[in-house]
Amino acid sequence: MIEQKLALVTGGSRGIGRAICVELAKAGYAILINFNENLDAAVDTRQEIEKLGVPVDICQSDVTAKSHRDLLVEFTMERFGRIDLLVNNAGIAPKVRLDILETEEESYDQILAANLRAPYFLTQRVARRMINLIDEKSIDSAAIVNISSLRSYTTAKNYGEYCVSKAGLSMVTKLFAARLAEHGIQVFEISPGLIETDMTSDKSVRDHYNAKLAAGLAPINRWGKPKEVALAVSAIAKGHFPFSTGAVLHVDGGWHLREL
Ligand code: NAP
Repeated sequence: MIEQKLALVTGGSRGIGRAICVELAKAGYAILINFNENLDAAVDTRQEIEKLGVPVDICQSDVTAKSHRDLLVEFTMERFGRIDLLVNNAGIAPKVRLDILETEEESYDQILAANLRAPYFLTQRVARRMINLIDEKSIDSAAIVNISSLRSYTTAKNYGEYCVSKAGLSMVTKLFAARLAEHGIQVFEISPGLIETDMTSDKSVRDHYNAKLAAGLAPINRWGKPKEVALAVSAIAKGHFPFSTGAVLHVDGGWHLREL
């Protein structure tokens, strides 16, 4: 078992997940970078983490598949001997944005499998390991962070399956926060706003939100950076919220505020 705390970050190869891996490594965590398809991006992220001097490895695993989730957890335990922090970051957006009167069941199933079923059952699996590690006094405490979205409480009439998946993820946070507190495991939700990543790089998506920003979308009226989400994860990882669980941290430039 390694000396450093270990963070398992799903979708750690690119975008927000990559920034989370870097900030956690700066906080002294060893890092397991999970990815699905993009090996080059995972290797790039691993190289960046290696420069920070903490143990790091990558693991290809499609978190929508139970057998892959099992492999991911077993690999992490064999490689590092511990899991102190799970970040459920991997997520996908619908390939085509269709009005909810036209949503296709195939897209609905894909989005819910990645954004809701995967974090639910990976949390379940990792939490059992964390409980064992805490009970045998190998680690003192642990934490789980779910990356949701402002879409968990904000409607988008052409993005229904994504909104439903993120609303469900908010409840996953609450459920596991209530269940795991007695074991010394905290659970948090981080709710990002508009963040500049591959997910939002499509020109029509950028143009759509740029027009909204030009009209004054949020109190801090700009796109957010992946690092700004990662810093919130890092604050949790450093133990700065000892009397909190089930809490939502909005990293959205204040978009969630209502003004009349
Ligand atoms: P991104 O740039 O598209 O990166 C997605 C990451 O998830 C990649 O590392 C990808 O791996 C991985 N991934 C996707 N499906 C996977 C699967 N089945 N198994 C394992 N890994 C998988 O997305 P992002 O913008 O950084 O988003 C990260 C999270 O933040 C998502 O949950 C997203 O819903 C949420 N979020 C994003 C925004 C935003 O504005 N960008 C706003 C709110 C919330 P590969 O590289 O192998 O494909």
